Amino acid sequence: MEFATHLQNNVAFSDWYDLNVRPHKVLGYRSVVISTKFPSNIPGDVSSTQMRGIADIAERFGFGEIRVTHEQNFVLPDIPKSCLFQVWVELNHLGLGLANHALLSDMIVCPGASYCNLATAHSFLVAEQVVRAFTLAEQQEIGPVSMNLSGCINSCAHHHIANIGMLGLNKSKTDHYQITLGGCQGNDSRLGKVLGPAIAESELPNAIRTLFDVYRKYREVDESFIQAVDRLGLTPFKEALYSEGQI
Ligand code: SF4
Repeated sequence: MEFATHLQNNVAFSDWYDLNVRPHKVLGYRSVVISTKFPSNIPGDVSSTQMRGIADIAERFGFGEIRVTHEQNFVLPDIPKSCLFQVWVELNHLGLGLANHALLSDMIVCPGASYCNLATAHSFLVAEQVVRAFTLAEQQEIGPVSMNLSGCINSCAHHHIANIGMLGLNKSKTDHYQITLGGCQGNDSRLGKVLGPAIAESELPNAIRTLFDVYRKYREVDESFIQAVDRLGLTPFKEALYSEGQI
């Protein structure tokens, strides 16, 4: 079947193509982002079987090149457009066909207290809870947003420069997370600002939902989350998050 027919007939492939396939300067080629995120994988973690599978795909369909991104994903930089469907099928067999590039589940998450002796909080468990609070359809409806979660002030997950940053702190012997809003990476890089007191781990998924509720309420047509934060400022997000009974 032709590439265009797959794109037209297969919604899952079409979603993956829209989100995880990037343009290429050479006609007929694309670069592919392989997501290693929840719910398929622990962010940035792959098994040896998955890694061998990715290497095999890179050799058979690309030029044997795999790049590792600081966003904890892989990129296959030179894949012929005509091979994309087969690449997607094989990635799905490896459990790596998740279509979520740049959505909220494409979080950068440090190992936290699960593996790191410096941690002041756990990272993976709460990050997974946040991701599982949103269906993929909801994530697509919210659109592009960067969310990074660090397990201590060493900030290995670069939470300061995420649209929504989360910093793990140990407060009263339970994990709490300080939220920063408005950070950005890239040409327009800047640090996010602290929204208020740290939030208990159990409340974090609801708190993140509250921030997106504010965005959905006030956003303009085609306005991304970070553009809305820039236009609205922190106040409506802060008010919604810390209003009585919210957290
Ligand atoms: S941010 Fe802290 S907890 Fe996370 S990996 Fe770095 S040092 Fe460890």
